[in-house]
Amino acid sequence: MKAHLVDELSGMASTVKERPSFLTLSQKTITVEVGEEEKPFIVHKDLLCYWSKYFDKALNGPFKEGGKDTIAITDVPPVVFARFLQWLYAQPSMPLLGGNITQERVEPQATVDTIGSTWRLPTQADPEGHIYTKTTEKLLELYILGDRYDIRDLMKDVMSALMIYGALSDWVLAPETAVLAFDNLPRSSPFCRYVVYTYAYAWRPKPNLDNEVRERNEAMPPELLYEVMTINIRRVIDPNIEEPKDLEDPCRYHDHDDEARWCRAQLPQRMMVWNEIVNRLCVDD
Ligand SMILES: [Zn+2]
Repeated sequence: MKAHLVDELSGMASTVKERPSFLTLSQKTITVEVGEEEKPFIVHKDLLCYWSKYFDKALNGPFKEGGKDTIAITDVPPVVFARFLQWLYAQPSMPLLGGNITQERVEPQATVDTIGSTWRLPTQADPEGHIYTKTTEKLLELYILGDRYDIRDLMKDVMSALMIYGALSDWVLAPETAVLAFDNLPRSSPFCRYVVYTYAYAWRPKPNLDNEVRERNEAMPPELLYEVMTINIRRVIDPNIEEPKDLEDPCRYHDHDDEARWCRAQLPQRMMVWNEIVNRLCVDD
């Protein structure tokens, strides 16, 4: 009953009703052929279908091909799919929460300070921000996979990891990453919102470095520049406009249905996953 409640509250609507653990997981597997090279990955079907509405529909929906046990996705590189599997196979080990979610358990808001203090970030060895840029680009690739294949919880975890990693790294997203985001995601996507707010509130162009500003301006999507400009002109015109108070709240960049409370209550447990995502992306190639 509790597990069922948890799944309902966490917003999952899948034909696989209960969140699979390694104790309950069906041994049925499918082969996902990934990328133009059709690299095969064998994946537990129920696990994939529980977390991805796309695969659930494709493999369990009314238009599924009978007995289908192979599916191809050509628009994702195998390395990105492998990183997704790293996330997917962490899910059965995540603790199940039970009990009543009360306001006391939700507050105080999880912040960068409280969550990030337990991270071991490799940014100290990154004076030019190269590791930061490569890692955030990999996070974006995972996010795009989540957007295309309807994996909402992956997108939420990536946004949390990105937000905390960015806040602790003292870098802002590279223009190339901003371009990649605006080219591959809807403008309303939380990732694109994050890019806008990061440039509006966190980017500090160094004095007398016109080249930095010019180079970034030339590379960045015009709609991004327009939004950043609008935010900051409004702030100049009206000094009473304050920074949004939740810029450091991971849930700011989550698409919740009605599970915002539950999402907040789970944030401490999800830290383990964010840490794994970021630390592994920092070192793999
Ligand atoms: Zn949330």
